[in-house]
This record gives sequence, C-alpha cells and structure tokens, in this order.
Amino acid sequence: MTKIQMKTPIVEMDGDEMTRILWKMIKDELILPFIDLKSEYYDLGLKKRDETDDRITADAARAALKYGVAVKCATITPNADRVKEYNLKEMWKSPNGTIRAIMDGTVFRRPITVKGIEPNVRSWKKPITIARHAYGDVYKNAEMLVPCAGKAELVFTGEDGTQIRELIHEFDGPGVLQGMHNLDGSISSFAHSCFEFALDAKEDIWFAAKDTISKKYDHRFKDIFQEVYDREYREKFEKAGIRYFYTLIDDAVARVMKSEGGFIWACKNYDGDVMSDMLSSAFGSLAMMTSVLVNPEGKFEYEAAHGTVQRHYYKYLKGEKTSTNSVATIFAWTGALRKRGQLDGISELAAYADRMEKAVISTIESGKMTGDLALITSMSNVEKLDSEEFIKAVRGCYEAL
Ligand code: NAP
Ligand code: MG
Repeated sequence: MTKIQMKTPIVEMDGDEMTRILWKMIKDELILPFIDLKSEYYDLGLKKRDETDDRITADAARAALKYGVAVKCATITPNADRVKEYNLKEMWKSPNGTIRAIMDGTVFRRPITVKGIEPNVRSWKKPITIARHAYGDVYKNAEMLVPCAGKAELVFTGEDGTQIRELIHEFDGPGVLQGMHNLDGSISSFAHSCFEFALDAKEDIWFAAKDTISKKYDHRFKDIFQEVYDREYREKFEKAGIRYFYTLIDDAVARVMKSEGGFIWACKNYDGDVMSDMLSSAFGSLAMMTSVLVNPEGKFEYEAAHGTVQRHYYKYLKGEKTSTNSVATIFAWTGALRKRGQLDGISELAAYADRMEKAVISTIESGKMTGDLALITSMSNVEKLDSEEFIKAVRGCYEAL
C-alpha cells in the first residue's frame, strides 16, 4: 500500500505523562503506517521546556503561525509540586497560555458523540460546540467591599484629560462594588475566530449576551459581531448555506436545551466558563472532548480538552495496565491532518481523517472501549480494553473499512 504524501508540514507539539505515551502509540499504529508524515516536531515535554528556558513553547507557537496547522499533546502546567518533581529552574507558565498569547485566538470545544454514550439531554442528536471569549470581563475585574454609606462613581480619564463620570450607586450602608472592561480589538478578534470556525465546520453560529440590560457593555459585543459579520462574512455565509444570529443569553439557553445540536455557541467569557462545563458533562466525558484554538487569521491548533492523565501515568510507570482513552487525542490528529489536506488540496489526507474518525466511532459502537466509557455507556456486552488494545482495535477497524 502506498502511503499518503504531504506537502506542508504539520507542527507537532509533543507533551507529558500518559498522553505522551498515547501520542507515540497513536503515531505508530494509526498515522505512520498510512501517511508519509511531514511534521515539524517540538518537544513541549516539561524536561525540554526547562532545558530551553521555555523558548521551545514560543518557537512552537510561531511555527504554528508560519504553517497554519498544529497538533498538540497535553502538557503539564507546573505548580510547586512539579517544580520539585522535575527539579525545574522556574515555575514555567502554562504552555497553552503562551501559545494563545502568541496566536491570539479563541478556543472551541466540541464533544465527540457516539451511540451508546448518550447525552443527558434527549433532544441533542449532534454535537454542540462552545466558543468562549478568553479575555476580560469579570476575569480582569477590579472589585471592593464598600465599608459604609457613600457615593460610588465610574470615572474614565482620557489621555487628553477628558473625564467621563457615571454614578454607580449612592450607598446608604455597606455593600460590594465591581469594575470590568473589555477591548474592541479583543471582541473583534473573537468575532473573526467564531466566523472562521463556523465556515470551516459549515455550521450555524449563535452569539448571545444581555444587551437589553447592559445597553452599552453587552451591546458593544453585539454591535461588533454584527459589523464584522456584515463587512466580511455575510456573503461567505450565504454561499456556505449557514447563518449567524444574535439572541439574548436566556433565550439561547432555552433554545439550546430544546435543540438537536449541530451548531456553534459563542459565549462571553463567564457564560463560556459555565456553559462549557455544563455541555461537556451533559455530553458524557472529558476524554471525548476536542479543543481547537483558531486565530483571527484562520490558523489552527488542535488538541484534546483533557490533561496529561497523571494518575494513569504513575500506574503505567509501575508497569500496571492502564485504560486511558485516546479518542480526543486521535481526533486532534485527524482534525489537524484534515485541515492540512484541505489547505494543500490533498483530498486523500482529508479522506484518511474521515475514515480514521469513523473507525474510532465504530470501535466504540461495537462495544470495545476504555474504562472511562465502559462506566457510563448504556450498552451491554462491553469489552473494556487497555490503552494499547483500544488503539490496536481502532487500527483493525480502520483497515477493515
Ligand atoms: P486530567 O489529566 O484531565 O485528568 C483528570 C482525571 O480525569 C483523570 O485522573 C481521569 O480520571 C480522567 N481523565 C482525563 N482524561 C482521561 C482520558 N483520556 N482517559 C481516561 N480518563 C481520563 O487532569 P489533571 O489530572 O487535573 O491534570 C494532569 C496534568 O494535566 C496537570 O499537570 C495539568 O497541568 C495538565 N493539564 C493540561 C492540559 C492541557 O495541556 N491542555 C489541560 C488540563 C490539565 P480517573 O483517574 O478517575 O480515571
Ligand atoms: Mg470552568
């Protein structure tokens, strides 16, 4: 069998612990036998980050900008325990934070749905993707306890000395007070990423806020989305047969619960924090959740939403069998390879990705799965496989398709 040839390399970001073990198994069993893989490899494992004073993370992010498509393994974000465990020079920052700061994008989280792992909401037939704005609002607030009666005002002092004042409240006793902000540039980047993603997924996009109550703040979000849409995306959306609409956040929540799924839900920072946890648990499992960072120029970085599965890794190190779910990491690879295929006009690469994803889903639907899914499936006669057996079963299924 001849292997599929690539033109442009994928940026490959290796990672830590159990997911690093899975990474190699996935490459050996599911990728290298079928694709003549071209990748520019960056080892973001904690040891290498420490050796390079974390320069490797920034280098990897810049390579993602250069080539346009990256796939990333889960990585350790160091804390005090990790500094000791790995004898680190410094408590390096979260690699995902560094990559996001360089690529400037929005994170989209999308569940992988299979028969036998049913969503808790009966009407959901297709995945719902959450796009969470990752800047500002309550996450960059200033707040205070108000100790006694008094007047609270919002004051803006311009560079040119102009002052704008707004009364917040005349307190007649103690209370609480909070100031928040956002930036036109960040909101506009968020809108661009959302519209790019929707075009790529060929799905409708909803955006919701509370502009009826927040007539300036939330209204600004609504207006910027609409301006960006009208100026740059309306025609593309009409051509693709998808739509964008804005609605109030409470209306969106009600509609999501009655929907069939199959759309993207863009959320302000706080709404996205809350709603993404609701969606991922309602859809089943963190190990079945993919995540992709899309920057406003349409550059993509694919990964699994879960971490390095440390507990399983320590079992693995002791020589014990693990049953770690590799599905979201496999889908990170297929997502990246499909995108690379589309950008380079290599239809075999996109077809490979479709077929591999189908093989993963068929394997699970035939009753072969890892322990995390075996615990929550509605199927009977389930065969619980270990980490390696599952990947081998997927390969068998792929070859039989
Ligand atoms: P985690 O790796 O997501 O794992 C938490 C628990 O969830 C696991 O112990 C396991 O439960 C279950 N789980 C997660 N993924 C699974 C999978 N693929 N298959 C089976 N079970 C799975 O989170 P963590 O243990 O809190 O974090 C470990 C490390 O990951 C940390 O150093 C953190 O910094 C890092 N992290 C990285 C990323 C990223 O790179 N994007 C994201 C989050 C966390 P059971 O033990 O009950 O089986
Ligand atoms: Mg949260």
